[in-house]
Amino acid sequence: MALTRGSERNGNAALRVGVLGAGQLGRMLALAGYPLGVEFSFLDPSEDAPAGDLAELIVADYDDPRALARLSACDVVTYEFESVPVEAAQTLAEGVPVYPPPAALRVAQDRLYEKEHFRAVGIPTAGFLPIEGRAALSAAVERLGTPCLLKTRRFGYDGKGQFLLRSAADVDEAWRTLGNVPLILERFVEFERELSILGVRGRDGSLAFYPLVENHHRDGVLRASYCPAPDVSDELRVLAESYCEQLLDHTSYVGVLALELFQRGDQLFANEMAPRVHNSGHFSIEGARTSQFENHLRAVLGLPLGSTEVPEPCAMLNLVGALPDRRDVLEVPGAHLHFYGKAPRPGRKVGHITVTAATPYELERRLSQLANLPGVG
Ligand code: AMP
Repeated sequence: MALTRGSERNGNAALRVGVLGAGQLGRMLALAGYPLGVEFSFLDPSEDAPAGDLAELIVADYDDPRALARLSACDVVTYEFESVPVEAAQTLAEGVPVYPPPAALRVAQDRLYEKEHFRAVGIPTAGFLPIEGRAALSAAVERLGTPCLLKTRRFGYDGKGQFLLRSAADVDEAWRTLGNVPLILERFVEFERELSILGVRGRDGSLAFYPLVENHHRDGVLRASYCPAPDVSDELRVLAESYCEQLLDHTSYVGVLALELFQRGDQLFANEMAPRVHNSGHFSIEGARTSQFENHLRAVLGLPLGSTEVPEPCAMLNLVGALPDRRDVLEVPGAHLHFYGKAPRPGRKVGHITVTAATPYELERRLSQLANLPGVG
């Protein structure tokens, strides 16, 4: 059947999406795509990557030319993992539409470029300085003040690659711990809570935003998200949407973008952006009219976006390091279970639970029934 590459009207032709990365995000993209008649080819160096249970999995490095040639036969290519080489995405983009744009990938891979980008489009962040050497670190700690956080610029996730400096006396230890890679120092933001906003932009520039999400972490790992975040004023919602919109429009972005924010009073500070579907949006599979996964696919395929309305309060609990008994989850009304097909290991995200309820009170009651299960907490 003829492919409709790049077309704004896909009709009912066969469509194949190539995906760099085949983790649980890819798996959930595939689960959202099959009802739309969309097929997938995933590329991942790991032969037991979770999306491989559901779709074609090309096992190769992300920059393997033969693997990239196979992906370029797809109608569109996207990613579910942001540490893929930007050059691979750029090479692909010469022959096939690649969304989100590789430029957004480049920014999101490096905390320094990311913070500079936020600053350039007018989004407040923690004060920051690039660190090039031990002497620069001492000077930067003096300038920014303590407490402050030293972070690796690249490959940091789930709070990894960070060192909290409580005073200037911590400089030596911070340098010993992280000093052999490019670094950024950030002022510590005394925030009240962590929020995220997920926005989606279609090929035609249409925009949609999910309600703000409140996120709870333990040891740097996301453990629970609530959507809508409680007690969000209209002003705060509009502010978050305007920040997300700046990022989406600035790069002619296509797809879902997640922006992680710190809230202090009526202020929001951007921490990170992810040019992909995001863990804090998993609630949307059952909690929103259209999931982030389906909307990402609609966007990159040039299809109309779906409603991002969240009709009832809902929450998502990550399953980390262990899986509960299915029965114990499913007996709680409004609870839905997602296993990722990954072997449990300490600190590893192996699944999640979504809970919906008619009222915040009922939601809390249901969550308390799940609170002590393996993997939750
Ligand atoms: P990150 O890897 O940047 O997402 O950071 C992991 C966690 O560290 C965040 O979710 C925050 O709880 C905390 N954190 C990161 N940067 C800052 C900062 N500048 N000020 C205060 N807390 C931070």
